[in-house]
Amino acid sequence: MKKVRFGKTGLMVSRIAFGGIPIMRISKADAVKVVREAIDLGINFIDTAHVYADSEEKIGEAIKGMRREDLVIASKSPADDKAAFNKDLDLSLERLGVDYIDIYQLHNIASEAKRKAIFGPGGAFEGLQEAVKSGKVRWPAFSSHSIPLAIEIMKGGEFAVVQIPFNYIDNAAEKDIIPLAKELDMGFIAMKPMGGGLLDNAGLSFRYLLRYDNIIPDPGIERIEEIREIAGIVEREEALTEEDSKTIEKLRSEFGPSWCHRCDYCQPCPQGIFISAVLTTKSTIKRLTRDRVKSMVGPAVEKARTCLECGDCMTRCPYHLEIPKLLKEGVAYWDAQMGA
Ligand code: SF4
Ligand code: SF4
Repeated sequence: MKKVRFGKTGLMVSRIAFGGIPIMRISKADAVKVVREAIDLGINFIDTAHVYADSEEKIGEAIKGMRREDLVIASKSPADDKAAFNKDLDLSLERLGVDYIDIYQLHNIASEAKRKAIFGPGGAFEGLQEAVKSGKVRWPAFSSHSIPLAIEIMKGGEFAVVQIPFNYIDNAAEKDIIPLAKELDMGFIAMKPMGGGLLDNAGLSFRYLLRYDNIIPDPGIERIEEIREIAGIVEREEALTEEDSKTIEKLRSEFGPSWCHRCDYCQPCPQGIFISAVLTTKSTIKRLTRDRVKSMVGPAVEKARTCLECGDCMTRCPYHLEIPKLLKEGVAYWDAQMGA
């Protein structure tokens, strides 16, 4: 598979990465097979996270005995403070069975409060800087769902790589982030290239994304057939057709204003409802194991039943979503799929 220069890291990475979320829900033996298939197809860029259950461990098993320099490994820590960050990084290294990680991301800088904690004295960023100095990490990176926050952080100039959701529906990164990444020569990882499982047309998703020469889509992969299909689209360098553009327009209007971008600007809610978690229930149920979904989203759904319909959140949502109505729909979907 074609390799491209990944911004200022200078790393040569495959045109797509292998996203390590879905292997959480398959057996270790199957996960090893699917990771090795991706590598056999020429994918040298593997992205996972400390919090993706046993994903790092399964990847570690799959790459055992391979030449380390042939792989570009990325992982993430959600820590706010340095001590927790150091613990996460050491465990990531141990689980992956490597003595350095190419790209280590401060995971999901979602709010101003988290940003302050990370960059404050004794924050996770200090830990990341020290890890780069000691050689445990090659390149500092971060991920976020918030476009304005990401722009500010990128402009700070401390990071070599950014990861943001980007697909033909959730395309807010297109306007500012992608050109800024190019200007700053940063690597850009496109999170949720298939909308976290909501967009099921792989051809459309990748033909859309591969028009951008400075982004690396990071699809979460669970089955060998999936990675073969996507790798085929990439290898054939399929171009976006007029028909595709029409389909995208149609789907955009179908998703329309009800698409939650998980930016969390609607917070705080007086009832403590984790709004974005409930509004994205459908995609979470599609992606994760039943047990994991229950533990991750179950409490948010229960809280959502207490919505006062005060509308405070709606005044802050930049996408003008009808949040109380969408919460009700999210709860109803949950009850239908998971049992009330
Ligand atoms: S409408 Fe519901 S979700 Fe929104 S702020 Fe009020 S209680 Fe919270
Ligand atoms: S409801 Fe609106 S403000 Fe809240 S996370 Fe979703 S898109 Fe963002």
